[in-house]
Amino acid sequence: MDNLREYYIQLGVSPKVYDFCSEIEKSLENRFKDIDTVTELNQVKVIKAMQECRFAEEHMNGTTGYGYNDAGREVVEDIYAKVFKTEASLVRQQITCGTHALAIALGGNLRPGDEILSPCGKVYDTLEGVIGVRESKGSLAEFGITFKKVDLLPNGDFDYENIKKSINEKTKLIEIQRSKGYDVRPTLSVKQIGDVISFIKSIKPDVICMVDNCYGEFVEVIEPSEVGADMVVGSLIKNPGGGLAPIGGYICGTKECIDNCAYRLTSPGLGKEVGASLGVTRNIAQGLFMAPTVTAAALKGAIFAANVYEKLGFKTVPNATEDRHDIIQAVEFGKPELIQAFCEGIQAAAPVDSFVTPVPWDMPGYDSQVIMAAGAFVSGASIELSADAPMKEPYAVYFQGGLTYHHAKFGIMMSLQKIVEKELISW
Ligand SMILES: *Cc1c(COP(=O)(O)O)cnc(C)c1O
Repeated sequence: MDNLREYYIQLGVSPKVYDFCSEIEKSLENRFKDIDTVTELNQVKVIKAMQECRFAEEHMNGTTGYGYNDAGREVVEDIYAKVFKTEASLVRQQITCGTHALAIALGGNLRPGDEILSPCGKVYDTLEGVIGVRESKGSLAEFGITFKKVDLLPNGDFDYENIKKSINEKTKLIEIQRSKGYDVRPTLSVKQIGDVISFIKSIKPDVICMVDNCYGEFVEVIEPSEVGADMVVGSLIKNPGGGLAPIGGYICGTKECIDNCAYRLTSPGLGKEVGASLGVTRNIAQGLFMAPTVTAAALKGAIFAANVYEKLGFKTVPNATEDRHDIIQAVEFGKPELIQAFCEGIQAAAPVDSFVTPVPWDMPGYDSQVIMAAGAFVSGASIELSADAPMKEPYAVYFQGGLTYHHAKFGIMMSLQKIVEKELISW
């Protein structure tokens, strides 16, 4: 008897869905092997950094109050700097999320009269508020900092000609968003990022190149900081936190940029010297240790999903065979009932809150209702299996995460199961 099949059937996956998905999984062996090669390199890279920094048990004790001389906090920052191959880093639980990390990197390094240039078009939604593209209290625009963007060309390449035209004497910082996030453009590879940085620095060598690295960490064997980025920025409840960091953000970069960030995060004059770690160092360090394998699990889940739904005739972005540069998978369902059923399946496969039924609701900052499925150990952590979809054309679901591949696989099987049960596809 096939025990595994029996288990899945007991969990509500029909034999037909299980067999269909198993066939697809078998065809992905080689892709999964390629991912394992990247994972192994990144795993060794992280361990090497921990050993070179002489990371020790005593570093996980934590401090309280001001947090002066927090050896654990300092060694974790040294480890991050080594992993991302930068002079310095700021890795803190006082950084509340990815947006906050990006706001610190921008606010710390820009002064009135400076201009930001985005060579990849629209920035992430929440950053529009930070920069002031969307009017908001305390934005950089209120401090006299301006913003320009140059859209990517229709084929996804940089528009070098217009980038060159947009660089002027005010241009101080280049904001490059690696992941497409919830946009329709392709995600940038590290090589593409390196190319655009070289181009920009050939025109204006002293400009600061900052990369929004969210969702991209450990997907490739090098990071944007190895191809010229002065700062890479991200969230610890995505890839680099490995599912274990309960909060936090990181910025890795040149010593000067990081010092500026630290003065913005805490206070001028105090910088990196304060910020008690309160015993969270263990989770942040262990999370980084786990991050390469966790990212791999999420990537395999995304590839599995793309292959399942492409085979059923849906448009997937990236498609079933494309190279990956982040962990996000979009599936265009075209119909609200389909995205609702998909989200119900993801929720039903969760280790936490599996009994909840996700429903569309009005969310601040969105122009349509949004449905979300997540049953996470860390609230809102999108490195854990999760899906969300704005209830509007083209009715696309964005799916990401999975601390283990097998959970991601189960989630996708359940999503298809719900769709089949509601007779929303014929097969
Ligand atoms: C997640 C994300 C952010 C930051 O979002 P938070 O929810 O504040 O952590 C910024 N940029 C991109 C591309 C992201 O994916």
